Amino acid sequence: MRYSAQKGTRDILPSEIIAWHKAEETFSRVCHRFGYEEIRIPTFEQTDLFQRGVGDTTDVVQKEMYTFEDKGGRSISLRPEGTAGVVRSFIENGMGSLPSPVRLFYNITAFRYEKMQKGRFREFHQFGLEAFGAQGPDIDAEIISVLRVFFNEMGLKSIKLCINSIGCPTCRKAYNDSLRDYFRPHLEEMCYDCKSRFEKNPLRMIDCKVPECKVIAANAPKLIDHLCDDCKAHFEGLKERLDNIGIEYSIDPNIVRGLDYYTRTVFEFVSENVGSQGTICGGGRYDGLVESMGGTAVPGIGFAMGVERFMLEANSQGVDFGKTDYVKVYLANLSDKASMVINKLAYELRLKGVGCEVDLCQRSFRAQMKYAGKAGIPYVVVIGDDELDKGEVSIKRMSDGTSNTVALSNFVEYCMNEL
Ligand code: ATP
Ligand code: MG
Repeated sequence: MRYSAQKGTRDILPSEIIAWHKAEETFSRVCHRFGYEEIRIPTFEQTDLFQRGVGDTTDVVQKEMYTFEDKGGRSISLRPEGTAGVVRSFIENGMGSLPSPVRLFYNITAFRYEKMQKGRFREFHQFGLEAFGAQGPDIDAEIISVLRVFFNEMGLKSIKLCINSIGCPTCRKAYNDSLRDYFRPHLEEMCYDCKSRFEKNPLRMIDCKVPECKVIAANAPKLIDHLCDDCKAHFEGLKERLDNIGIEYSIDPNIVRGLDYYTRTVFEFVSENVGSQGTICGGGRYDGLVESMGGTAVPGIGFAMGVERFMLEANSQGVDFGKTDYVKVYLANLSDKASMVINKLAYELRLKGVGCEVDLCQRSFRAQMKYAGKAGIPYVVVIGDDELDKGEVSIKRMSDGTSNTVALSNFVEYCMNEL
């Protein structure tokens, strides 16, 4: 029997891990710099939380959720995204009484039963954040700038920002009527899903991926032309703030986002390189969500970035993540006696924070040197009976072959300070 990873899942191998560590560490550092704190939420929740929180007219809930009954007869779903769980935690832990805004970030796996494609998996990773309690457009501009700083720090050049506003329930009500008027004569030609969206949530019809529906939806009236005065002012405010800090954007009236809870600002960072899975990050405001999930009326805003898609983009832009340098020195042994000394030195080095490796496979001296070279370990020290007698070793820098002689008694300290 040969096992293979399940469809839509993949291993992140050691060769890629430096990029992942760098992205995770950078995201966390940048979020902290803006005053966000990390939250870790459970991998599964009761199914109803996502039906309510993500929206039961969305593809995510209707088609993509991993839902099962547990042994206690509960309906459980693996999280398809992070916001619903974070909002649940926000309410459950009384975070509404903390000073506003409450700013949280996360790094999660998410699960969606989707057709596997480049940049589309069944288990994938998201970096995201949520901010609760700030009403005006300042925070909208701030979370967008978190992403800009992150991309900048990761060495990415061009990632396009598209923004839109999908208004509030007030403007959406009037707009939904004009959308229905527009779609009504075409309804027969549209897909089954669109037909059911027509009454429940016609805004979803704009986001339909079926080519025939897309053609029809292309000329539908745009919500951005039907905003109420408050929503218009909010959107103008966001543009003004982005202009002020010099973040470029384009307005894309077709962004409605895949999840139901958004209000007003929605945005996406898209790449020209990643093809049809070009949306690296999506986000927006969700002013009604906390209340609709049983909390008080607190405005919220957030985004989630697909880490696999981010990696594809970083690779196609030729970002160099460098190499790991966890192991600084290889301690090659030339005799049994030396090997006891080496094991002791190695333990001490590791206690003091210096990464090192020793031979664990009874290799010949030549084979040890070959191993150290292949592993790319930057320094090598050879210890045999001669070195023990003299009480001195020579540490060789592999990049240029230069050596330094150091007293054995001073070896650990030397490595701590000089390597
Ligand atoms: P798409 O239109 O590509 O299906 P979405 O609107 O469903 O995306 P969101 O729910 O907004 O995506 O999730 C935020 C981000 O998570 C996306 O922009 C994308 O980068 C990433 N993402 C979503 N689904 C997947 C998936 N199946 N595999 C990998 N990344 C994903
Ligand atoms: Mg999707």
